[in-house]
Amino acid sequence: MPDRIQTTIERAAEVRGYGLFRGLDVTLRFLPAEENHGIVFQRTDLTDAADIPARVEHVVPEPRRTVLSRLGTRVEVVEHVMAALAGLQIDNCLVQLDAPEPPGCDGSAQAFSEALLNAGIVTQSATRPTLHVPTTIEVTTSSGAHVSAAPQPAEAGYTIGYDLDYGNSPVGRQSASYTITPEIFINEIAFARTFVLELEVAALRAMGFGQRTTTKDLLVFGSQGVIDNALRCPNECARHKLLDCIGDFALIGCDLAGAFHADRSGHRANHDLIRRLKVMASMSGTDEVSLESESPPEPPQRRIA
Ligand SMILES: [Zn+2]
Repeated sequence: MPDRIQTTIERAAEVRGYGLFRGLDVTLRFLPAEENHGIVFQRTDLTDAADIPARVEHVVPEPRRTVLSRLGTRVEVVEHVMAALAGLQIDNCLVQLDAPEPPGCDGSAQAFSEALLNAGIVTQSATRPTLHVPTTIEVTTSSGAHVSAAPQPAEAGYTIGYDLDYGNSPVGRQSASYTITPEIFINEIAFARTFVLELEVAALRAMGFGQRTTTKDLLVFGSQGVIDNALRCPNECARHKLLDCIGDFALIGCDLAGAFHADRSGHRANHDLIRRLKVMASMSGTDEVSLESESPPEPPQRRIA
């Protein structure tokens, strides 16, 4: 399968709201960027803030979310923004924020995907490298959660399967599995909302999180099921965890080809897998750091309306 051509957005796009964790008002702006720029986060509310490339080497471990930090500047809860960009195969974008955290919106990637699609997606001239998983890599956590990447024939592309197990709770056991393409992302994954158990809410609020978030903003599961809300599909929770995987795996900074599988994994295990994959790829000489292109420049073309 030939490498694809890099893309950016045609014009700026904006999403406003408040953060799911800290509840601060925020405006997020997606801006076009030149080829080989990658995804870079920029805090516009701070003076002398460092730009933060969306790379796994800038991840700092925090519970329940993906946090990036560079030279003292932080952005938090980037995973749904990253999922939208990766899911739509947008490679080069400057993401400006005037708060530490993007808008939570409905806890899915829908608002970001719609803003990006409305901005238009244009091809550039350089090729986007693909990292083909060279050998099976596995991460198992102390709680028994598991995430793995394995080689598969090139024509099988990039696949992710997710198995969720919340035992006898209303979330229960559910799975989702997809070949990741922009069309699949838009139609099957982007809308899946984040979820939390009612019994976890008090503890999160005691830590200062979720003060503005209501049962309308995301899925809160009580003992009888979803509170004040309705599922968009029976396995919405598993699809959301798969969405998180797309956002976390995108921190490798190139396209992926291989069979990924997650069994109850969270952000930290996802990051560990990507770190290991990156080391392994550099050892086997397929490191994605080489982003040079031999392709002649082409005029921008709209790829997705
Ligand atoms: Zn999430």
